[in-house]
Amino acid sequence: MYNKMIKRTFNRKTYIILIVISLLIFSQVCEGCSFFNNKEKLTASNSKKITLSDEKTMMDTINSICTVSRAIGSSGEKKTCEVLKKQIQSYGYETQVQMVPYEYREQDQEKTGESQNLIAIKKGTSKHSKGTIIVSAHYDCEENSIGANDNASGVAVVMEVARLLNKSSNDYEVRFILFGGEELASTGSRYYISQLSDNDRKNIKANINIDSIAQKDHVNPCIFTVSGKGNFATTLLKNNSKNKDIILKKMNRERSDYVVFDKCGIPSLCIGQSYDENLNINGPQDKISIIDKTKLKLVADMIITAMSK
Ligand SMILES: [Zn+2]
Repeated sequence: MYNKMIKRTFNRKTYIILIVISLLIFSQVCEGCSFFNNKEKLTASNSKKITLSDEKTMMDTINSICTVSRAIGSSGEKKTCEVLKKQIQSYGYETQVQMVPYEYREQDQEKTGESQNLIAIKKGTSKHSKGTIIVSAHYDCEENSIGANDNASGVAVVMEVARLLNKSSNDYEVRFILFGGEELASTGSRYYISQLSDNDRKNIKANINIDSIAQKDHVNPCIFTVSGKGNFATTLLKNNSKNKDIILKKMNRERSDYVVFDKCGIPSLCIGQSYDENLNINGPQDKISIIDKTKLKLVADMIITAMSK
């Protein structure tokens, strides 16, 4: 009787183990089948798992470029372009540095030289691309500043969005552009637009520009458009339930990058803090210690959630 029980228990246990092993082998074999892969993709797409931004990575970017002033045409601006080029290449992008010759004359000012725009492109992953979206920020600053908020903060966000979006699928081509020479009449963005073919320009559906977003003890950044009304760029940004309550304001800061795009008919917006006397930009007070990293994260996550498919 005892022997019989042992035998029966052993047989049942062996039977269960064999079933488990068979199921494991079956699942491994089927992993390569399209049915299981499709199922996996559907699950991934439906649950919309989005990797959000990392504050430390963005602060590292700010620390790495705020070592020098980056005034238009300066060695600091050129060196910073190289630093950012290597960083974005390390995320898997091919880059283009567009040289920007400039001659600026106004009243008693005369400035000539060469700046540069840094461009990295993420091609659309669907067969029928819906067009191009630009995510941009200027990386230059005034001579007497290291431009931590204006605009290393915007650069840090563009770099972080590029890092996180590189692996995701997207119906749009996304161009990450860091413009030089914004502080001198938006030299970099004006030159970039002047070099576009008609077709390329028509294909650009939106410009999301980030400029001065992260000063401590100042208001949270909001969205500005030239008209104060929504456009395709604002629709894109609100393309997620978390972003629906974003505040939209009117601002027409002539000579800002988003205004340059708007003027040539490309739907454009700027994410920034309100420009008032309490905003510490364009001077020595714009240093790293005034940066609030939670504001960097707020803006980066806003763009990442809107653009993740
Ligand atoms: Zn700025």
